[in-house]
Amino acid sequence: MKHPFDYEIIYSSRRTTAIQVSPDGRVIVRAPKHCPRGFIDSFICQKEDWVLKHLSRFEKQRELHSSTKRPPLSGKDRARYMAVARDIFMKKAAYYARIMDVSYGRISIREQRTRWGSCSSKGNLNFNWRLILAPEEVLDYVVVHELAHRREMNHSKAFYAIVESVLPDYRSARRWLREHGHSLWEAV
Ligand SMILES: [Zn+2]
Repeated sequence: MKHPFDYEIIYSSRRTTAIQVSPDGRVIVRAPKHCPRGFIDSFICQKEDWVLKHLSRFEKQRELHSSTKRPPLSGKDRARYMAVARDIFMKKAAYYARIMDVSYGRISIREQRTRWGSCSSKGNLNFNWRLILAPEEVLDYVVVHELAHRREMNHSKAFYAIVESVLPDYRSARRWLREHGHSLWEAV
């Protein structure tokens, strides 16, 4: 007898007949030893709708699962994001440098797993483009942080006093980066 799906019959010392659909789409019929084939066929017929419903549900789940795997960002898209980031960081650095009365050198946009920003001894600033995917207060904090290194090349109390004088609420931005920074690598 033909059924609308493939299945496997497993005979054992059990007393009843049962049918299972596994998430990978296999259908297994469990039956008592010596169970007549006709009985198994009519049992499968009774369960057809149930099996088909589960097969399609699991199939949808598998499709959903595979579509959440994001393709890697293309070089063209990355270049576009970096250009947007450059524009934003140039403007923010100019704005905050004036308020903080500090100078800076070149601005570079990077993508480094371990760094959101940095400031060299010559005053060149690096920013991670993925920050543009974060809330704006987070970008402001990273810019102010790097510019504050123009006065204090350390993370002392004096350094954070400078940051706080510009951004009194900088701690919440710093906390956001610590707790959610990793999500910026999954956003695009
Ligand atoms: Zn720092």
